[in-house]
Amino acid sequence: MCLCRAREKGTFGMMKRWLLVGLVMWVMMWGAQPLAAQEDRIMHTVQVGDSWLALAYRYGVPVADLRVANPQLNRQRQPVMGTAVAIPGSGGERMGALSRPYGNVLATAVRLNQSPWQLALPNGLATPYRPLLYAPLFAPGGDTPPREWPVGITGLELSQPIPQPGQALAIRGTVAADEPVTAILGATAMDSFVADGRWLALTGTGAFYGRRQPELTIQVAGQPLWAQPWQFEDPNLWEYQSITLTGAAAAIDQESIRQERERLFAIWEQNSPTPQWDGPFQLPIRDYLEITSAFGARRSYNGGPFSTYHEGVDFSAYGGTAVYAPAAGTVVVAEPLYVRGGAVILDHGLGIYSGYYHMAEVLVSVGEVVQPGQTIGAVGTTGLSTGNHLHWDLLVNGVWVDAQAWLAQDMACWILAGWARPCEN
Ligand SMILES: [Zn+2]
Repeated sequence: MCLCRAREKGTFGMMKRWLLVGLVMWVMMWGAQPLAAQEDRIMHTVQVGDSWLALAYRYGVPVADLRVANPQLNRQRQPVMGTAVAIPGSGGERMGALSRPYGNVLATAVRLNQSPWQLALPNGLATPYRPLLYAPLFAPGGDTPPREWPVGITGLELSQPIPQPGQALAIRGTVAADEPVTAILGATAMDSFVADGRWLALTGTGAFYGRRQPELTIQVAGQPLWAQPWQFEDPNLWEYQSITLTGAAAAIDQESIRQERERLFAIWEQNSPTPQWDGPFQLPIRDYLEITSAFGARRSYNGGPFSTYHEGVDFSAYGGTAVYAPAAGTVVVAEPLYVRGGAVILDHGLGIYSGYYHMAEVLVSVGEVVQPGQTIGAVGTTGLSTGNHLHWDLLVNGVWVDAQAWLAQDMACWILAGWARPCEN
């Protein structure tokens, strides 16, 4: 009797459960109907570390199915950071971590403080005792999605998800050991700094970089290479300037230009290993009339091709207007130059240099450490210049970058955060 009653209750419970399941399925199907044509796909915006494997574990979809759903993508490459990939028939997201196996699942479970069986099952392994190959293991749990980082680095972040040509770029992360790290973007070796468990890589791409998908490769010394492509966009909002040079201006001493450039690049390519600034960069001039030429403006001389671009920002201003240090730094150049006229160049650390040219007066000397807002010179029209203005340039990794974008994106503080330093004042 008792047993019978229990069975009756059990059957009733089952019915209720099935009714509930049916209701949930009906609601889900009804809700999913407008999307039926898209076969329940979702679009996932790729971030750094979203490898095919990481996405497969995250959405519970086999890598092969991800590839079939994205036939336009190159199978030899990882998903492109900044683009969207289609995820077919996902049953929801799973949080967890991908880590390199230590011998077998058992050893890995001990290292990760997890149950071996709990680790074996989501990785499709029948037993935790089987030795593993080199594929990373998925350990479910936590509140972050699985990502495939370079071995030895965690918490990798990019300064911009989709960078534009001319912008300064930075990558930051946490390193397991203070080993040297190599980072290469396309064909450019980035400046790379490791200290106290932190890693920073910096570069610029130049204003002609265009729309492309360069491979970013990162490698901690002695560890396997990691690679993921990165989407660059070019909204193509460049200014085009046709400049006519006549008389003395047309007869510029090309050899002196070359020598000045060579000498400055020898300075710009050096890296001091710590940031000297401790707050956001400021504009180096307050009382200017207008920005007469932005960074990256395409330039044609005497009807020639637009094969060069403006390497800084021009502020027109009255002669004598004060020029300020935008951030702390060490003066490395303070003298009149042939092309740049009255020039000051500041070393801000981490391979970041700013320059102030065509000045009528230079008010600092080499070796001096300047503070943000300190007057370093006065606007003039010295060197190869046709009127009073300040030409301000900024270099990262020996590449000119857009100083206005640097300010707008608050790159100085983003980089300091990577160094675990506050960004104040
Ligand atoms: Zn200029």
